[in-house]
Amino acid sequence: MQKLKERFSLIKNVVLVLSGKGGVGKSSVSAVLATTLVNSGFRVGILDLDITGPNIPRIMGAVEQKILQTEKGWSPVYLDFEKKLGLISIGFLISKKDAVIWRGPRKHVMIKQFLQDVNWGELDYLIIDTPPGTSDEHISLVEVLHQAIPTSTLEANLSKLRIIAEEETLEEKTKLGAIIVTTPQEVALIDIKKEINFCKKVNLEIIGLVENMSGFLCPNCEEIHEIFSSGGGINLAKSLSINFLCKIPIDQRLVEICDRDGVRVLIDESSDKNNLRKPIRDSF
Ligand code: ADP
Repeated sequence: MQKLKERFSLIKNVVLVLSGKGGVGKSSVSAVLATTLVNSGFRVGILDLDITGPNIPRIMGAVEQKILQTEKGWSPVYLDFEKKLGLISIGFLISKKDAVIWRGPRKHVMIKQFLQDVNWGELDYLIIDTPPGTSDEHISLVEVLHQAIPTSTLEANLSKLRIIAEEETLEEKTKLGAIIVTTPQEVALIDIKKEINFCKKVNLEIIGLVENMSGFLCPNCEEIHEIFSSGGGINLAKSLSINFLCKIPIDQRLVEICDRDGVRVLIDESSDKNNLRKPIRDSF
């Protein structure tokens, strides 16, 4: 327990990325968010706990990489020279076949181990890519995070968790919150309500909603065409009083990047450590 608390005392913000169902782009959003934060001068870790489909290694272009065991714990895979973006994925350790047959208690132990044994060092953001829906894994994850992050901090921050990350607004204690990813279709939006209820039940602050695959960015005319119904995410966010963070269109370049070298190529290696820190909402 002490070790867990020590690890998390070095991490300023923990962001869970949730979605009502698979395939809506939760991992892609996690990957793009992480690289955007790195390019804004932050130290970031991605923890891929999506047992149902740990896609982060493929999306980031790190499939061949291995996690190393060191004296201080598991060492993340670093994707840039300055080690500003570290990556741990369940996909590095287990085969898909194994993950499917794992039962609850074993998953719980594994999640705890991931949170406790990875040596991230100091991080501005730890982005956790979770399985789709709300499962036992989510409950285990939030339980362990509540143990890792002192309750008083959570209570103190519940009403004022911010996504603004300017240095002067960062408080010393870890902030915990969730970003929910959806697509504009009605069926995905219905699932989102379950996510929101889950967050409320487990006392997890909702940072906001991202609507992915919201229209199609035409490579010829560079305009966004609404191919599904639109406005569902923003209306839902309004009706449930949660922040609407942004819309992301279907962009063929993202698929090409993932198929070729991975989202790691978006990391600006020349980005200055003292880069002006921007609010996530603007940079995302
Ligand atoms: P999830 O994590 O929700 O299962 P992924 O992030 O793995 O979803 O995305 C599923 C597929 O959709 C991937 O092939 C990914 O490249 C693609 N994808 C996701 N978001 C977009 C987008 N905005 N534009 C184009 N393709 C996307």
